[in-house]
Amino acid sequence: MNKLVIKNGRIVDPTQNLDRVADLAIADGLIAETAENIDATGSNVFDASGMIVAPGFIDMHVHLREPGFEHAETIETGSRAAAAGGFTSICCMPNTQPVNDNATVTSYIVDRARRFAKVNVYPIGAITKNSSGEELAAIASMKQAGIVAISDDGRPVMNARIVRQAMEFATALDLPLIEHCEDLDLSAGGDMHEGLESTRLGLRGIPRSSEDVMVARDIILAEVTGVRYHVAHISSKYSVEMVAFAKKRGLKVTSEATPHHFALADSDMRRYDSNYKMKPPLRASEDVNAVTCGLLTGVIDAIATDHAPHPGAEKMQEFERCPFGILGLETAIGLALERLYHPGKMCLKNLVRLFTQGPARVLSFDKGTLRPGSVADVTVFGLDHEWTYDVNRSLSKSRNSPFHNHQFRGGPVATIVAGEIVWTANS
Ligand SMILES: [Zn+2]
Repeated sequence: MNKLVIKNGRIVDPTQNLDRVADLAIADGLIAETAENIDATGSNVFDASGMIVAPGFIDMHVHLREPGFEHAETIETGSRAAAAGGFTSICCMPNTQPVNDNATVTSYIVDRARRFAKVNVYPIGAITKNSSGEELAAIASMKQAGIVAISDDGRPVMNARIVRQAMEFATALDLPLIEHCEDLDLSAGGDMHEGLESTRLGLRGIPRSSEDVMVARDIILAEVTGVRYHVAHISSKYSVEMVAFAKKRGLKVTSEATPHHFALADSDMRRYDSNYKMKPPLRASEDVNAVTCGLLTGVIDAIATDHAPHPGAEKMQEFERCPFGILGLETAIGLALERLYHPGKMCLKNLVRLFTQGPARVLSFDKGTLRPGSVADVTVFGLDHEWTYDVNRSLSKSRNSPFHNHQFRGGPVATIVAGEIVWTANS
């Protein structure tokens, strides 16, 4: 039997309302028990003294770029970056080339992940063929091939009739529908949040309303169809209010926020630095506050990175021509600690929940827990060690992060997938 004992860590597991210093025993890839002074004779031992031992973190919004854009990222490199960021499971968005809109592409991703990925990889299928918003993708057969949700992320479904149809399909198949909320007519040509800062920099704005009108439309349709509806990368204060309203109404509506949307505002943008260019854009400080508040109150269910690798050449063009998106996997825990935990806004249990039980519930995953008998996906992280993020040493293939040289207090220490240590901070 293959045994691992994680000694003396502070075990934080919201699913068991657990927060205490103890040992965690893993046997044959499953959680065996949590107890004090577990006899580790004949086992491998990981000393977690002074560290947090949590259920494996889940990032439900990642772009792995394979197939089609392997110069930016592959399933292998993206999963390595995930492991280095403390994530044991990631969901990959379908905007590859070809788009993951049929079972052949889904099976390809599942197969590549099985052979090359360091962490669990779950594909998300497209809502429409080629994500072009016109005709539904082969959703049922993709589900059989292993997708866990549908989304046209990167693009919204602009046609309300199509999105309603998709919601009806998703409801029948019990799949969550994840929307990239952006009215393209309102955002057309924009490079950053529309406001004082965009005027000051002379850049074209993306108004908050481009997000809000689509969240509103979708919530109305979610009520009509009964779908499990999830707002990707929520960034606007009004959208947060609308999700709160939908939840109060008892709808199956959930949302996620990225670390950059609670850590940065449009005023933090360095002049024409494309590492601050993403969709939705960095918004005004009142939006940052609303997103933070949504995380604290449970209106927002999950922290997801929207890890979006782009090779240097693409991000080096003039600002207006640069693609949207930044890396996120390796800096997520550090940013959550910096913005939510260290200032005393959020307790550790709630922070862990946003990376584990929260996304697991959205996706109906049997994960995000350290209950005995569950698969031993474990994230070990520290609260106080100081480290500097050097993007040039990133395990991602790309380098587009605004957090290069950022000093962090606390971050990932070890990542364990099905009982196997796949990454440690010293490796
Ligand atoms: Zn998106």
